[in-house]
Amino acid sequence: MKKTVNDIDVSGATCLVRVDFNVPMEPGTHVISDDSRIRATLPTINNLRARGARVIVATHFGRPKGVDESLRVAPVAARLSDLLDAPVHAAGDSVGADVERQAHGLAAGDVLMLENLRFHPEEALNDPIHAAALARLADIYVNDAFGAAHRAHASTEGVARLLPAVAGLLMDAELRMLGGILDSPRRPLATLMGGAKVGDKMAVMERLIDSSDMVLLGGGMAAAFLAARGLRAGKSPVEADGPQMAGRILSAADARGVQVLIPSDVVVADKLSAGASAAVVKSNSVPDDAMLLDIGPETRDAYARALRLCQTVLWNGPMGVFEFPQFAEGTRGVAHALAQHARAGATVVIGGGSTAEAVDTLGLSQAMTHVSTGGGAALEFLEGRVLPGVAALQDMD
Ligand code: ADP
Ligand code: MG
Repeated sequence: MKKTVNDIDVSGATCLVRVDFNVPMEPGTHVISDDSRIRATLPTINNLRARGARVIVATHFGRPKGVDESLRVAPVAARLSDLLDAPVHAAGDSVGADVERQAHGLAAGDVLMLENLRFHPEEALNDPIHAAALARLADIYVNDAFGAAHRAHASTEGVARLLPAVAGLLMDAELRMLGGILDSPRRPLATLMGGAKVGDKMAVMERLIDSSDMVLLGGGMAAAFLAARGLRAGKSPVEADGPQMAGRILSAADARGVQVLIPSDVVVADKLSAGASAAVVKSNSVPDDAMLLDIGPETRDAYARALRLCQTVLWNGPMGVFEFPQFAEGTRGVAHALAQHARAGATVVIGGGSTAEAVDTLGLSQAMTHVSTGGGAALEFLEGRVLPGVAALQDMD
């Protein structure tokens, strides 16, 4: 386990807190459309302030190439200030003499927000001189940006090698929840996998087959699994090597005695569009001119029943094209079943950006045990890969 802010004395210290405030904006505006990433770090920031630390918050925002006026962090700093109900001073840059002066002028409980870290190309290159410039701002480094921990950048990895470095409370929760699934899940453990393509999820599926008791498949990747079992998947866009990849997963599962459920019925349409009309068909009679766009009602009920038998459920990837209502029922159905299951005491962990978005839209985030903020980082972590931003933090004694 990694040390957290609660394992060190922060009183009077200046803490550089790496956060992931890469929030979505209303298209063409500077209006934040979803501030959940900011809210998720408030426990860490408030913990540090309450314990007499001076806090410097730093994030990347978008993908600027050099200084980009449209990607300044000012709107994010303003929202943080609202949520903290305290002033957040804005720095004009992320490093340099002016910022150092501002940092050294902070009083206990003050918050300073650095300008977009990626305005300096040295950030993404993990340039050691740039990391040292960041380190000069603070006494302690806190990483609360799980969503950026799979990248070895100056603010996630380099600086952590130069200062005492600990996990923030959000980072700690992510590591405990996702780590618990890999290391010591309450059994049986079910993995519910969906999303667009089997190729994107191959590595994580191979790792999860190792530790799961049951795997349930939906989403676009279901077509590859149906094809691997010798069924026709209509004109669904199956990757060329999709059925072969799915076949490998199926035989790995067989060899380990892991039960694999694939849809017995599916929702199909002749095209993927908002106006497409949907029909339910059995998986063994998919018309050649049909695309598979959701799991069917029989599958939804079967999955809900199977998931209820499992003490721990990891869900990654929507069951269908949930963005369109006629293909959203599968995702909605399992989301409600899992929320109810979690309320009854099961451990239900949601990983994946789209899956988290679907659960959030349904108003079910609070019901789940944990909804990861990780996206790509969560997938890499579940693959069993070492995240550089995590590896650089101090271990518990
Ligand atoms: P996550 O971000 O949760 O890891 P993915 O990125 O793998 O999930 O996949 C999310 C996308 O998969 C969604 O945009 C959804 O519309 C799409 N999707 C789900 N089911 C299907 C399907 N049957 N056919 C095509 N796309 C699908
Ligand atoms: Mg995604």
